[in-house]
Order: sequence, then structure tokens, then C-alpha cells
Amino acid sequence: MKLELLKYVLPFTRYPYEGELVACPVCSCPQASQVASIDRRLKRLPTFACLNCGLLYTNPMPTDDELHEYYQRIYRLDYQGATDTPKKRHLRKRTREAESRLKFLVPLLKPGSRTLDFGCGSGEFLTGLLALGHDAHGFEPGQMYGRYAQSLHDQRVTIQQWQHVNYNSQFDLVSCFHVLEHLKNPVEALKKMVQWTRPGGLVYIEVPDMGTTDRNKGVGAFHFAHLIGFNHHNLLLAGLMAGLQPKVMVTGTGIIFEHRAGSERVRESEETEKGRQLTMSLYGNRRAIYNYFRYQLGKVLGGQRTHAA
Ligand SMILES: [Zn+2]
Repeated sequence: MKLELLKYVLPFTRYPYEGELVACPVCSCPQASQVASIDRRLKRLPTFACLNCGLLYTNPMPTDDELHEYYQRIYRLDYQGATDTPKKRHLRKRTREAESRLKFLVPLLKPGSRTLDFGCGSGEFLTGLLALGHDAHGFEPGQMYGRYAQSLHDQRVTIQQWQHVNYNSQFDLVSCFHVLEHLKNPVEALKKMVQWTRPGGLVYIEVPDMGTTDRNKGVGAFHFAHLIGFNHHNLLLAGLMAGLQPKVMVTGTGIIFEHRAGSERVRESEETEKGRQLTMSLYGNRRAIYNYFRYQLGKVLGGQRTHAA
């Protein structure tokens, strides 16, 4: 398997997939402009920006079979260096992240709330919620992390892909941390979250912010596992399209939505326009490359200043 991993890390080569051409995974617009042909590993990876909503996405997009193969055999080794069980260092980091998310989510929950973590990984968010008396559940498609989460929480954790998971009753909160950017069909996934949430319940989405103007990484933020890249506006758009209303902006791309009816056509077209403008200002006209080098240079110079001080 380690030899196979080389295909995913050797610079200047293609990733081992054929893929298929797709329209924008959020707004379905077929028109897009290529903003980069390489990623943060300096491997060849074509990234496009939707000319309607500004979503960044890989095109050709890996097929479902290619992604399944990658996630089953390569992903955790590639990104966390894990071969048979999650690394302790990674578990500690996940625990810290879960604790910080609990601080702003728990005050919004009634005692004993029923919660679902969409892509729960090794299960730290469930651990935190259960300790506070909530009825926490989760599912995880990856075998290694899913089994670890099951070893802590038994039947509260299902090892399954989101398309195949079913629940008999609805949840007060569905959370989804850094998962949506890995999915080819984010609006469908959000609609599933809406189905699973009771009316008036919450859906919290957190993804990497590709719309940061300060210290933008350019192509340094692109990599194979992240099929799509959101900014604040097209994440809002995706939520609105799925039938959610924004309730609290925790960060630009950390948004607590509410499952509540609303007519948001005007808001959708405003966010579409703002999303496109922001993406083009950051990634259009070769700025994806320019920002990459500026960011790398900033790291070096920033490091020197720290050293001198
Ligand atoms: Zn779009």
C-alpha cells in the first residue's frame, strides 16, 4: 500500500484517477474557469471556479468508485499517517477541536438533546456531548476511524456512507465538521441533513474557508481529498438551496443553520453574485499561483522576524 501512496504524493505527476467532467456541484452551472492545474503538493490537479457562484471544484471529478477506493485504502494513511488505528496525536487534536465546538453549540441545546454527527471520525464530539447528558449519535464511512468510534460508543456509531444511513426519528442537531468539502454532491448531503433534523432544529456546518482574503494560500489550499472549496457566500447558498436558514455565523465558513421554512430567492442570488466576485478576486487571473508564493514567502519572512525578535 505504501508504494501505491507514492502515486498520491510524487510532485509533477497526475493523481491516479480518470474522473468525469461535471457541472458546478452547488448551483449546477456548467460554465467554469480553470484557476489552477497544480495543488499544494505541486501535483497535477485541475481546479475550476464556477462562473456563477464561485465554488472551487476539481474537474474532472473522481468517480464514486475511484473515491471509494481512495477512502478505503489510502486517505487515512495519506493524511494522518495511520495504518491500522488512529494516531494518538491526531486523537488529541480532535478532542481539542470537539471541546472548542461544544462551547458555542451546547448553549443552543436543550438538556438531553438528540444529536447526529455526520462523518463522526473517531467520535470525540459524541464523547463530549454524552458527557453533558445529550443523546449523541454519529456515522462514519471510513472503517478504521469508524471502528475506533464504535469501540467507544457501540451502537451509537454506524459505519456507513451517508447515502445508505437511515434513522427512525429526527435530531435536534446535526453537525458536520470538515466533511462537506470531500463530497461531490454537497446540496444532496445537506438535504439529507435537513430530513434528519426536526423542524426548528439546527444544522452546523464547518468547512475550510477558501475565501479568506488575509493570508490566502492560493493553490496551497488545493488537494485531492477536497473535491470542492467553499467561501462564506457559496456555503450560505448551498444551505439555502437545501432548505436551511442561517442562524449564527460562527466563522465565515462555520455556520449554524436552522431547519425552518423561508423564501430566500433574493438572498440566493445575492450570495451567488458575492461568492463569484470573491472567488474571482482571490483565484482568477493567475492569483491562485501568486497568492501561493506570497503566502510561502510570508511564512519564511514571518519566521525570520520571529527569530530576530
Ligand atoms: Zn456554482
